[in-house]
Amino acid sequence: MSDSTFLGKWTRKFAKHLLSAPNFVVFSYLDFLDSVFCVIYKHLDLLFEGKASACYCTSKKGDMSNGSSNGELGDDHGGETGMSETLQYGKRKKLKELIVLLQFVENLLNRNKGFEAKYSLKNPKKGDFYRNGHRWSDCGCDSCISWMKMDDPKLHVVVSKASSQDNSNPSSTENVIFIHGMLSSSSFWTKTVFPKLSELNKSEEYNMFSVDLLGYGNSPKPRDNLYTIKDHVEWIEKSVISEFQLNSFHLVAHSMGCIIGLALATKHSKSLKSITLVAPPYFPSKDGVEFTAMNWLTPKRLWPPVAFISSIMAWYEHLGRCVCLLVCRNHRTWEALLRRLTGSRDLSFIVLDLTKHTHHSGWHTTHNVLYGGVKDMDKNLEILMKLRKKVHVIVGSRDKTVPPDCGHNMKNKFPDVELLSIPNAGHRSVVFSRENEFAQNLFHIWNNAAAHHMHQA
Ligand SMILES: [Zn+2]
Ligand SMILES: [Zn+2]
Repeated sequence: MSDSTFLGKWTRKFAKHLLSAPNFVVFSYLDFLDSVFCVIYKHLDLLFEGKASACYCTSKKGDMSNGSSNGELGDDHGGETGMSETLQYGKRKKLKELIVLLQFVENLLNRNKGFEAKYSLKNPKKGDFYRNGHRWSDCGCDSCISWMKMDDPKLHVVVSKASSQDNSNPSSTENVIFIHGMLSSSSFWTKTVFPKLSELNKSEEYNMFSVDLLGYGNSPKPRDNLYTIKDHVEWIEKSVISEFQLNSFHLVAHSMGCIIGLALATKHSKSLKSITLVAPPYFPSKDGVEFTAMNWLTPKRLWPPVAFISSIMAWYEHLGRCVCLLVCRNHRTWEALLRRLTGSRDLSFIVLDLTKHTHHSGWHTTHNVLYGGVKDMDKNLEILMKLRKKVHVIVGSRDKTVPPDCGHNMKNKFPDVELLSIPNAGHRSVVFSRENEFAQNLFHIWNNAAAHHMHQA
């Protein structure tokens, strides 16, 4: 090795370490701060609700699945609980001494009150939790808790029926289910491509259903649900497929919604006509893939601020709860403030949707679906490929949230996947900046699927 290359390499290494030093210091401090808030929240929960909250700082893996009916969960997750390993990250990261201290505090609180603070998959008596009310740290406004007053709450679904419903021949109409991604809602589709699709709908007949996922938008946000893929799929089944008696449908999903979409598609492969995955977070499955996904999608970064906030939300259970307490619980105040500042009466749905979740629903969906769910994607894709189902993937070449490589990797592994790469499009702009083209893409896919279906028959 010549001196100059050695020096160059050394300088690069030095610069890298110099840059990562503040990262290391800040995130180590946050690790500590998260433990402090663990104790604070246990006290506050005890004070306000008479019961300390469960968390993943000290719980063992067995605790989480404690009392679960494993047989029931076996089908989709190979005997697993559907809980992501990444939830345990906080515990791994904490100092042994700190864990001992946390356990000491927990025991101290437990001794006084005699309760067990752990997450459990065990369902209480059916229907009980709907009436439990909201957590003190969640918003209790009318719109946030309206679902609690219903006997059998379902997901919020926006339906757009085919324009000229031909009742004499119902088989001529087709159904499409739309699933949104992280921190979003049905508006992601209804406020963007739905109007364009309706214009095009004059010649074709499609009933369109856009859901708010469990824990998001105007859908229920139960406290005793762990928001696994299985939960999300079951709620879509009962709120859309059974509710509207769909025996055949197309699926369109964005980002994290793709993971749920694939699970739903595989479970209902007989009814599936086509599935379109927009910006899917795909990572080839292997051991520890959930941590790969976590590091790729939400790396620990100080800059830009959005990346910093997402790393707090993803890596720190209790600090994330602080952010939700500040933002989601007070969403009405923030909305009023924003209206005043911008002088506009209508705030964008993109802004409004950011706060429409609870910390419990957001935290668990992020881990159990976004990180933990990536390992199911290969299995589900294999099944769909074997059945010769049409799987379409649309990615934006400039997507910084979910790298377009994800789509390319999927195409490499499953050559039958149809990949459409949109130049200069980002994570959301792949839909938002080209609504007309996107609607046409979809019509093209659905028409081809119909032809493909007839061919197969
Ligand atoms: Zn904790
Ligand atoms: Zn509210």
